[in-house]
Amino acid sequence: MTIALSNPVKFLRGVGPQRAALLEERGIITVADLLSYLPFRYEDRIRFTKIADIVPGEVCTVFGEVSAGGGNVVRFRGGGRPPVFHVTIRDGSGQLHAKFFHGAYLDGRLKEGQRLVMHGKADFDPLRPNRCEMVNPEIELISAAEESPGDSTEVGRIVPVYEAIGNISSRMLRRIIYAVLRDFDGNVPDPLPAEIRDRYRFPTRRDALLYSHFPPKEESVEQLNTFRSPAQSRLIFEEFFYYQLALALRRLREHRVQGIAMRVREDDIREALKRILPFKPTAAQKKVLAEIAADLEKPFPMHRLLEGDVGSGKTIVALEAATIAIENGYQAALMAPTEILAAQHYLSARRILAPAGYAIDLLVAGQKRSERDEILAQVESGETKLLVGTHALLEDPVKFAKLGLVIVDEQHRFGVLQRKRLIEKGASPHVLVMTATPIPRTLALTLYGDLDISVIDQLPPGRTPIETRWATESQLAGVWEFLRRQIAVGRQAYVLYPVIEESKQELKAATAEYERLATAVFPKLHVGLLHGRLKNDEKDSVMERFRRAELDILVATTVIEVGVDVPNATVMVIEHAERFGLAQLHQLRGRIGRGREKSSCILVAPKNITGDALERIETMVATSNGFEIAERDLKLRGPGEFFGTRQHGDAAFAFAQPLRDRELLEFARREAFALAENPARAQQVVAEIEKVSPAWRKRYQLAQVG
Ligand code: ADP
Ligand code: MG
Repeated sequence: MTIALSNPVKFLRGVGPQRAALLEERGIITVADLLSYLPFRYEDRIRFTKIADIVPGEVCTVFGEVSAGGGNVVRFRGGGRPPVFHVTIRDGSGQLHAKFFHGAYLDGRLKEGQRLVMHGKADFDPLRPNRCEMVNPEIELISAAEESPGDSTEVGRIVPVYEAIGNISSRMLRRIIYAVLRDFDGNVPDPLPAEIRDRYRFPTRRDALLYSHFPPKEESVEQLNTFRSPAQSRLIFEEFFYYQLALALRRLREHRVQGIAMRVREDDIREALKRILPFKPTAAQKKVLAEIAADLEKPFPMHRLLEGDVGSGKTIVALEAATIAIENGYQAALMAPTEILAAQHYLSARRILAPAGYAIDLLVAGQKRSERDEILAQVESGETKLLVGTHALLEDPVKFAKLGLVIVDEQHRFGVLQRKRLIEKGASPHVLVMTATPIPRTLALTLYGDLDISVIDQLPPGRTPIETRWATESQLAGVWEFLRRQIAVGRQAYVLYPVIEESKQELKAATAEYERLATAVFPKLHVGLLHGRLKNDEKDSVMERFRRAELDILVATTVIEVGVDVPNATVMVIEHAERFGLAQLHQLRGRIGRGREKSSCILVAPKNITGDALERIETMVATSNGFEIAERDLKLRGPGEFFGTRQHGDAAFAFAQPLRDRELLEFARREAFALAENPARAQQVVAEIEKVSPAWRKRYQLAQVG
C-alpha cells in the first residue's frame, strides 16, 4: 500500500483514535500536514561521544547502558522538594552520572543493562567537582531489535528530534513519520517556480521534506542544527516567499484602489508648512516628509511606517502631514495609545498649528457627556480639522465628514484590526503609522509587510548624549543628592517604580515611595505622583504642572513610557531597573535627553543580578542607540515575544524564524516582489500554492488583513 499526501493521518500505522485527536488539535490532519511538522533539532547517532571524551560544558549525545544497581529515586521528607531520580550509565570508556528533577516517573524503568541514548550538557557536579554529570538530559531507551543495523530509526543515523505533541513523544513521531516515508508515493507538488529553485540550487519540495525528516548520513549535523542545510533552507525560503508574494500582490491591489491625490507642491501648501515650523527640521525629517508628501500626491492611499528612535522628532513630521491634508480640505485623525500621550499631542498640535488657526479637538474616554457630544458633532460636520485621541476614536459614534489622513502613533501598541477600524472611518484615507521601536529593516519588512518604510535616523541637533549609570540601593543617598543639585540649577527629574501599590512581591511602589520622597527625602521640593489609576483630569493636571516646571520631581510608573516630552527634565532614576524589559528601559530613558542640557539616567539594581537582567542593564549602560538595543532585545526575547502576539508576523510561519533566517527572508522578498511584476504569472503561482496547502491559504488571509 502506498501513502499519498492527502491520506488522513488517523489511518496510519501507530496512530490510533486518541493520537489522531491530539494531532488534529495541532492542525495535523493529513499526511501533508504531518510532513510539514519538522524536527527542531538533530542528533548524531552515528558518531556518539565516548563518555571518556566528554568535554564539560558541551552538549553531547552518548550511547550506553545502565550501570550496576540501576536508577533510583531519592525522595525528601517534608513538602517542598520534588523527588530526584539518579542513574549512572557506562559505555566501555567510562561512567556518566545523570539526575532528573521531578524524575519520579522514571522509577523502575532504568534497570541495570538497559540500553539508552542520553543527550544533554555534561558539566561538573557542584558538590563533587571531579564528577561530570548531566542534569535533566533527554533520554531514549533502546531495545535490542532497534539496534539492528540498517532500518533503525533510533541509532546508526542522524536522528530527527521533534517537539512532543501531548503524550506523543518525539520518538513516536519519528516512527510514525519513518513508516509513512517508507511507503510514500513520493508525489509532492512543488509550487516554487523552477527558475527560482535553480537560482538558489534548492532541492525539490519532495526532497527537501524527505531530507529534513531523515537526513542522509553524510549531512552535517551542525548545519542541520543551525537550519542551514539545503533542504531546510528551501523550506524556510518558501515560507517567506509565499508570504511575501501575498504581500506584494496585496500592494498591487491597493495601488489600484482609488485614493485621494492631494496637492503638495503648490505655493499655498508650502506657505502653510513654513508657517508652522517652530525650528529648522533635521535632514532626516526633511527626507521623510518628502517621502510622505510624494505618497500623498498619488491617486492611491499611502501606507507608510515612520520609524525613528525616541526623541527623533516624529511628531512634527506627523503634524506636517496633517497640515497638507487639512490644506487640501480634508480632516486628519491622530491616535495614540495612552491618554497622557494623546493629551500631549493635542497640546503640541494646538501650539504648533496655532498660526494656521485649525480647529483641533481631543477625544478620550471619560470626557463629560456634553463636551463629548459637541466634539462628535464638530467632527461629523467637518468643522474639526484634526482630531487627536486614544482608542476612543475607534468607537462607532465617531464619524468624520471627510477623513483624508489617519496617523497612528506608537503603532505597536495597537492591533492590526484596530488600525483597520480607524481607516474605515474614511474613504480610503492615507495612513501613516509611527513607531519608536526601531526594528531592523528586514524584520520590519516582514512584520509590516506591505508598508513602505521611512526612517528618521538622526536626532535633532544640540543634544548631548545621555549618560547612563548603574547604582545600587546602598548608593541611593548619593543619587538623591545628585537630583537635589540638578534641581537646584533648574532641571527636573523623573523617578520610576515598577508598581503602583505595594504587594507581595516586595517591590518598592510608586505611591509609598512618593510619600517618602515628598516628606522625608525632598521636603523642600515639589514632588508629584503619576500613575495609571489616577483619573484623567488628575493625570492631566499633574502632567501639566510638571510641564510648567511647577513640579521638580515626578514620581511615576510606566504610564510615562511612551511619548511624554518635557525637555527640561534631565534626570531619570529607575528603581528596580532589573524588573523592566530592555525596550521599556530604552523608552523610559527616552523621556530625558530632549533638550540642550546634559541628561543622566540612573538605573538602580542589585549588583548581583545575572543572566538576562544583567545583560539588559549592561546594554543600557553601554549604548543609547535604539537600533542596537532593539537587536539585543530581539535576541534576548525572541521575535514572538518581542513583537507581541497581536502582530501577525510570527503567526505566519511554521518553520521559518525571521530573526534567525533574515538572509533568506531578504532573498525571498526580492524574488516575490520581482515575480509580482508579472501579475498573471504570480496569480498562477498563488493558485498552485493554495492548491497544495490549506495552511498556506489561511496565512494568505492573514496577510490580507495587515
Ligand atoms: P519622538 O520621535 O520620540 O516622537 P518628538 O516628536 O516628541 O520625538 O520630539 C522630541 C523633541 O525634539 C520635542 O521636544 C521636539 O519639539 C524636538 N524637536 C523635534 N524636531 C526638532 C528639530 N528639528 N530641531 C530641534 N528640536 C526638535
Ligand atoms: Mg512620539
